[in-house]
Amino acid sequence: MYQVAPQHAHRVGIIDDDDAVRDAIHVLLETRGFQVSEYGSAQDYLRGPQDDCILLVDLAMSELGGLDLAEILRTGGVETPIILMTDVPRPGQAQRISAAFRCTALPKPVDSRSLLATIASCVCEMACSRTNA
Ligand SMILES: [Zn+2]
Repeated sequence: MYQVAPQHAHRVGIIDDDDAVRDAIHVLLETRGFQVSEYGSAQDYLRGPQDDCILLVDLAMSELGGLDLAEILRTGGVETPIILMTDVPRPGQAQRISAAFRCTALPKPVDSRSLLATIASCVCEMACSRTNA
């Protein structure tokens, strides 16, 4: 059954082990009306309530990488949209990454215009059932 997404500020979870990257994206998204939560590692995210509408995940993190996290979530039946920030040099590889675990690849360094456009396209495709308290 199709459900209309409730009108709320979507919460974007930023999962990156680089503080500076998280800070910069946090500020950008907050000024655009999103709610933001930050996680310094994939393990941090997995420990939490996992109630973000969209995930923005660094591909290369020290312990558990973005692709590992995507696999864990998808295997567990979690279909939260995942945007993988990749610094993969070969274009074909990014497409394979996104296809494997239904992620969207976003090349690093991330520029604000493509980030916002990518988030906007994820928001259009998803039926977010989360409600703000
Ligand atoms: Zn939402």
